[in-house]
Amino acid sequence: DSYISGNNNLLQTLIGHSSGSGSGIPLLVQRTIAKQIRIERQIGEGRFGKVCLANWRGEHVAVKIFTTINDQSWLRETEIYQTVLLRHDNILGFIAADLKVSAGGAQMMLITEYHKRGSLHDFLKENTIDTAQLVVMARSIASGIAHLHEPINGTHGKPCIAHRDIKSRNILVKTDGECCIADFALAVRYDSRRNEIDIAPNSRVGTRRYMAPEVVNDTIDVTSFSAFKAADMYSASLVFWELCRRSRQNWPVGGSPMLQADEYMLPYANLVGSDPSLEDMHLVLIIQGARPDIPMRWKCDNRLRVISELIQECWHQNANVRLPALRVMKTLRKLEDSETLENIGIHHV
Ligand code: ADP
Ligand code: MG
Ligand code: MG
Repeated sequence: DSYISGNNNLLQTLIGHSSGSGSGIPLLVQRTIAKQIRIERQIGEGRFGKVCLANWRGEHVAVKIFTTINDQSWLRETEIYQTVLLRHDNILGFIAADLKVSAGGAQMMLITEYHKRGSLHDFLKENTIDTAQLVVMARSIASGIAHLHEPINGTHGKPCIAHRDIKSRNILVKTDGECCIADFALAVRYDSRRNEIDIAPNSRVGTRRYMAPEVVNDTIDVTSFSAFKAADMYSASLVFWELCRRSRQNWPVGGSPMLQADEYMLPYANLVGSDPSLEDMHLVLIIQGARPDIPMRWKCDNRLRVISELIQECWHQNANVRLPALRVMKTLRKLEDSETLENIGIHHV
């Protein structure tokens, strides 16, 4: 299959030797991890399978189960998680990939660390946050994306990676209040020294609601890897906007200050339906040039004001002027540090 290059070796390593039947379906060998996993309950549902809470050697883990071998996403996600130096506090921790063969057929599994607070989307629906938590969450998301996007050059370096499906459902909330990036089935890697992308990228992938305008109208220049990073930053800006809406702010209601947050809302929920088509997004993003509303009140709080400025720079129509993740992360880190100093009574002059 020319769409994904170099994954046959991985398939062989993971599931054993080819059956030689000519069917192209390898002989499935059940490995030990899959046998040791005890599934407890389902915690998530996706297009190609489900995510379960499981017990492995006495510890809670999350198991993503893919149900069709024809789908490349298990292979692709496993391949991305095995990228050298991918590990980071703000990237979902990978444990193993394995197969389970049962009477019903084969199951491909991806085993990762379990985060009991679940996805950022589900978290924000149920919870509001204070502005200090807002900065921590936004900075941690920017850190995760910056780690993906930036190369690490060295003898065993890390390639640049673009996620291509950044959204609040693909971000998990950790117990320490930071977030981590998950769901790498659509990611692409770029070797800057060889100037090579590791798969032939299909240009219009991802979740339509979060697609950058240049992805929606298919004008993205796929020959330049920075275009994929800029598209991720657009999607990230919508996630930051979701976070800002749920942050509590002192705001005068009828004369007296009250802690206020907006209702949870998906980006563009006021302009498109629950499953927008590319045509719907084209109308909103290209014809109308619309973006989610930035309420006046955000300008009256230092943290919300800084983040709304970053948001507007990241959802710019012109992909070339959007801020890189590293820049966003540094700005948010400064905001986080300065406010921390203030809390302990130190004022920087
Ligand atoms: P899909 O590719 O099907 O979208 P995801 O990896 O995005 O699968 O996971 C789907 C959902 O399952 C997430 O939105 C989240 O609610 C839940 N989930 C996934 N991984 C974990 C995890 N490690 N810990 C807790 N919940 C998870
Ligand atoms: Mg997902
Ligand atoms: Mg997915």
